[in-house]
Amino acid sequence: MPLIVQKFGGTSVADPKKILAAARKAVRAHQEGSQVVVVVSAMGKNTDGLIDLAKQITDKPAAREMDMLLSTGEQVTIALMAMAVDSMGYDAISLTGGQIGIKTDSSHTKARIHSIATDRIKRLLDDGKIVIAAGFQGIDEELNITTLGRGGSDTTAVSLAAVLGADQCEIYTDVDGIYTTDPRKLPDAKRVSQVCYDEMLELASLGAGVMHSRSIEFGKKFNVPIHVRSSMSDEPGSLIVDVADTSDLPVSGVALTRDEALVTIVDVPDVSGTIFKLFAPIAEKKITVDMIVQNVSANGKTDISFTLPTEELADALEAIEEVLETLGGRVGLKDESVSKVSAVGLGMAQQTGVANRMFRSLADAGVNLQIITTSEIKISVLVKRDIAMEALRTIHSEFALDQIEYSPNANVTTSERSTEDAEKVVEVINRLQQSGMEALMIDSISLDSTQSRITLQKIPNQPGLAANLFERIAKAGVFVDMIVQSHGSDQNADITFTVKRDQSAIALEVAQAICDEASCAGVDHKEEIAKLSVTGIGLRSHTGVAIALFQSLAQAGINVEMVNTSEVQVNVVVAGADGNKGLEKLKDAFADSLR
Ligand code: ADP
Ligand code: ASP
Ligand code: MG
Repeated sequence: MPLIVQKFGGTSVADPKKILAAARKAVRAHQEGSQVVVVVSAMGKNTDGLIDLAKQITDKPAAREMDMLLSTGEQVTIALMAMAVDSMGYDAISLTGGQIGIKTDSSHTKARIHSIATDRIKRLLDDGKIVIAAGFQGIDEELNITTLGRGGSDTTAVSLAAVLGADQCEIYTDVDGIYTTDPRKLPDAKRVSQVCYDEMLELASLGAGVMHSRSIEFGKKFNVPIHVRSSMSDEPGSLIVDVADTSDLPVSGVALTRDEALVTIVDVPDVSGTIFKLFAPIAEKKITVDMIVQNVSANGKTDISFTLPTEELADALEAIEEVLETLGGRVGLKDESVSKVSAVGLGMAQQTGVANRMFRSLADAGVNLQIITTSEIKISVLVKRDIAMEALRTIHSEFALDQIEYSPNANVTTSERSTEDAEKVVEVINRLQQSGMEALMIDSISLDSTQSRITLQKIPNQPGLAANLFERIAKAGVFVDMIVQSHGSDQNADITFTVKRDQSAIALEVAQAICDEASCAGVDHKEEIAKLSVTGIGLRSHTGVAIALFQSLAQAGINVEMVNTSEVQVNVVVAGADGNKGLEKLKDAFADSLR
């Protein structure tokens, strides 16, 4: 018998009428012969209301009590939903996270799922009941109630679908699918019929709020087909799958993280271990930093910039206070008026010229780029918040995302998964139920010793420089791999990029010419660099990954020159001579997490 998990978000259960409509969908799936688990969010904006209540009591509510409070939102909905199903003449039973046996760690308000018991749900389903599960919550070892972080009901739904071996996970929401960017922000956004896990993971973690990014980690790990669709109709929506029909596009989606903050730490010693010492205390607080950028050092000192969600800024600065005292260095700049705009596409890994097209379009629109970082499948730029929407719109139209045509998915009905697929997934589930369902999963660790690094130092703060540079480099037929631009708000910005060694001479010539024209301070060049890559699932949101990587390199006395992070890959550049040693160290450090 097929098994289906249906999740209804806040707007889709905002009032009794909507709860009854959602219940009808569950009942219909049941009538059609599926076993049905329904996961619900708190009604409407109830979670926001609860947070507001807490704020009226105290500025600093204890995280444990916050979870106790927030979990009540979903508890209201499960009871009402069960009553609704019951009123239609079908058997339903509501269960809290604790009653299901969703065990999490104890990091209140951002807990990660450790294991999920399935016996009770399976028994109830076999008895013919529709099971109504509370989203967003679990319990820790000590039976304390925990929550998974805002938007976490998606993660409850997909994780339940994974452990129950569901044939499909339907996410019912207030949009009719996944769009090329948030359709509420950009009316030109187009609905896509499919998107692959890697792209969705990246988009969700970079601001596409339609799915909780950790839910996509579950989808990818356990190959759960996810169908995002409207709760207001019966029309099919968008599928999140392993291989999507849009995967050859250079850019398939654009995302905006509106409330990002930029921090620059100046005058830190440029020696091995600095990056590790700086970021370890932040990671310990489970704060995800992004866009880590380092200038080429002068007199043994360097500047390190990074971005993080504005709401975490105070906590992060507090966390590094002590380290800065012992390490040297100080907070040179903090800017809370920036936003991060990112273009994501699996296709860009195979194509040249995606970055320069993006930079050119932004330069033509007069958008100044404060920071640039790239990874295999995404390019992020940091811009002033007041022009972030313009940047988003520009990239969206440059890559013709407003021209994408939705073609209804041929195969969205729930059919049972093949036994072979199911067996593979059961094997992974059994293993992870022991070590932690959301534990880090690394696919590979690799070394690329074929590249060179080129840096334009102290470039003047003028729009269009990155565009000129990478346009000319692309014209010369050179494939650029990593690109990093440090912040350009003063005269201290550098642009660093890597190219294949056999193309470094041409790239260097172009860089020198641009440098002369734009009067930057000079071109720094390292012919032999080593790029170390760790590939896996959820690498940026697992704040420990970059730290474990920095730590193991620091212990081996290896200095990190460049960093880029994405959800599917973390890359660092070190001196060429350190490549092999670095590779061995990383293999040791991640031995337990290799799949
Ligand atoms: P729910 O309460 O159902 O979980 P959310 O508000 O969390 O709903 O997510 C749905 C919202 O996500 C949409 O209303 C839309 O504004 C926003 N969104 C952001 N990015 C995208 C995108 N790429 N595609 C579709 N919706 C998006
Ligand atoms: N109710 C929670 C929130 O608003 C969880 C969710 O809706 O996914 O964040
Ligand atoms: Mg949501």
